[in-house]
Amino acid sequence: MTTKVALVTGANKGIGYEIAARLSAAGMTVLAGARDAERGQAAAARLAQAGGTAVHVPLDVTDAASVAAAAKWIEQEYGRLDVLVNNAGILLDLGSKPSETPVETLRRTYESNVVGVVAVTNAMLPLLRRSPAARIVNMSSELGSLTSTSDPQHPFSQFPLLAYNSSKSALNSITVSYANELKDTSVKVNAADPGYCATDLNRHSGPRTAAQGANVAVALATLDPDGPTGGYYSEDGPVAW
Ligand code: NAP
Repeated sequence: MTTKVALVTGANKGIGYEIAARLSAAGMTVLAGARDAERGQAAAARLAQAGGTAVHVPLDVTDAASVAAAAKWIEQEYGRLDVLVNNAGILLDLGSKPSETPVETLRRTYESNVVGVVAVTNAMLPLLRRSPAARIVNMSSELGSLTSTSDPQHPFSQFPLLAYNSSKSALNSITVSYANELKDTSVKVNAADPGYCATDLNRHSGPRTAAQGANVAVALATLDPDGPTGGYYSEDGPVAW
């Protein structure tokens, strides 16, 4: 059986690192995307020490040249890609009010969380189409759920993070767009809600661990051929859009 090749963006720490570790433990060759060479190489070395095959791929999702170079390198080395986890993301407006959010915060957030995902996905799709059963996982958040954040009874209505929340709602829409385009192919595209996990992103305020956050992404990255596409899932099942 051919070894599967998985690219995880933002794999040097947090939930992305845990996803990379789990895919590596499952026998995949993991390409650990990271924008900082030192942090990326350290993460790949840690993954390899645990017995897996992991290689650092320099990848800043906001830098078109970096995205193109990563795709070119993967094509030369492996000729295809089986799994893409669009995990890299930023949260810049923790504690901010929408009315006080500088537009620059919105722009920077969208560059990483929205435009970056599209840039990486479009660059990798020709390689993913060469896989017999490719899986794309977009790391969303329940903060992107309009059902949850518009419900005054829901705790997430207390977190009106204009830039972050709307970037994840946009990512959900983007997930559906790709799934619709690819519905007649073997490429499945889903959005993952990892739950509220303690990571650098939220100053370690979440009750869950990064390893728990990886569960749903790993499940979606390893879906069977009869698995869903175009959905939005947490570990407990479908999340309301
Ligand atoms: P984290 O610990 O802050 O890790 C974020 C990762 O993304 C880091 O590796 C970071 O690299 C990378 N990254 C950021 N901008 C990048 C760029 N332009 N190019 C490449 N890599 C970039 O955060 P996390 O909590 O693990 O978050 C992972 C994903 O899960 C994010 O998409 C986040 O929105 C989502 N999520 C998290 C939670 C939660 O509770 N933690 C909940 C829902 C969704 P550097 O080390 O170089 O900064």
